[in-house]
Amino acid sequence: MSLARRLTACRRGGAWAFERTTGEYRVRATANVVRSLRAKETVRRAARSLAVLFALVAAQPSSGVAADAETAPLLAFSARVAGDDARTRLVIAFDRKPDFSIHYVADPVRVVIDLPETSFGLKPESLDPRGLFNAIRYGGMGAGASRLVLSANGPTEITEAKVLPEEDGSGYRLVLDAERIDRARFEKLLSEQQWKGSARAVKADRPSAPPKAGTFVIAVDAGHGGIDTGAIGGTSRIEEKRVTLDFARVLAETLNREAGVEAFLTRDRDEFLSLAQRVQVARQGNADLFISLHADTLRQKDIRGATVYTISDRASDHLAAELAQRENLSDEIAGIAIESEPPEVADILIDLTRRETQAFSVSLARSVVTSFEGQIKLINNPHRHAGFRVLQAPDVPSVLLELGFLSNKEDETLLLDPEWRKKVSGLIADAVRRYRQAAIANGG
Ligand code: ZN
Repeated sequence: MSLARRLTACRRGGAWAFERTTGEYRVRATANVVRSLRAKETVRRAARSLAVLFALVAAQPSSGVAADAETAPLLAFSARVAGDDARTRLVIAFDRKPDFSIHYVADPVRVVIDLPETSFGLKPESLDPRGLFNAIRYGGMGAGASRLVLSANGPTEITEAKVLPEEDGSGYRLVLDAERIDRARFEKLLSEQQWKGSARAVKADRPSAPPKAGTFVIAVDAGHGGIDTGAIGGTSRIEEKRVTLDFARVLAETLNREAGVEAFLTRDRDEFLSLAQRVQVARQGNADLFISLHADTLRQKDIRGATVYTISDRASDHLAAELAQRENLSDEIAGIAIESEPPEVADILIDLTRRETQAFSVSLARSVVTSFEGQIKLINNPHRHAGFRVLQAPDVPSVLLELGFLSNKEDETLLLDPEWRKKVSGLIADAVRRYRQAAIANGG
């Protein structure tokens, strides 16, 4: 292979390699360089094979079904970002040719790249934001779809997007070139797109048949998921979305052992559900209760213990307000335009139902606190309230359980402990039993 072709091959290795080394190639085109290029290419190939291996190990197929080549998710096995605050290039390598579509969302500006179902076996640092972007997230959106969301510092356009085959036959790379544009141009992009920014429909694999008469149905909601990882463990680096799903499974199992109780999960895999979808899934499943599970982080690392939240227009305190604000960001992270969700129907009946539901939610929260007292660590004033959007079902009593904080070392250890999960699930089941007895005694 000629030097020129090798140079081209190296350049095609990606914008990052190209930009970092162009100068070097230009000034030192000697035999030594040819040798060093040859060596670099070998290293690059080896690195690529390793990346694919790493990706295969790291990527967790989001479905338990043994997948053949036709139905297997795409594999994104390496990525890089380069550029400045005028122009930024993103390159993502896939094992097969990816179909993709690009959309824009305003307030704040986000670029959404929709993909078929993709396993992301990327090193977390490979998509560290830079240039035009202040956050780059990726993950499953449910219903066989995945997504990348690029949060931009200002109005941004993808001026070029292409899929190129890798020369060595290892797959395809998606190359996206982004440019800073002015407000007017961005407004035009928004007005021209057909896309409405909603999340995909929830798969119909949740209970749709009405439960048997007298069955008490509980929707167990594992917070976060897919593109929305939630908080990250201070020591273990575990993602909140995994902690909540693991706990949710144990809790649903525990609740299902109770006579007359039927618990189901709003999500049973690593996928994104919008806050509205979670509420919708609970209502469609005829839930009598909705329990959303979380394990967030706080700046104050010494704060630990469980908290039970109910919804209210005014937050009980600063901490509650801060957490609700963070939780409510979930849809923004996933590139969903908030205004695209169905508007609340203002209706006096709904208002009355809401008030009654609220009373039940508070009663459940108190019951959970009573169960936890003396058994597991609680924070001061363990029943708090704030404007959590996931708790807004007008007719399903709902609580959000912060099991503990991933920012606290002791809490983190407990959250990962299967025995602790079992114990806490048992305490929640006790609380639900007491709540039901009280409701029955009150004619509910
Ligand atoms: Zn959370």
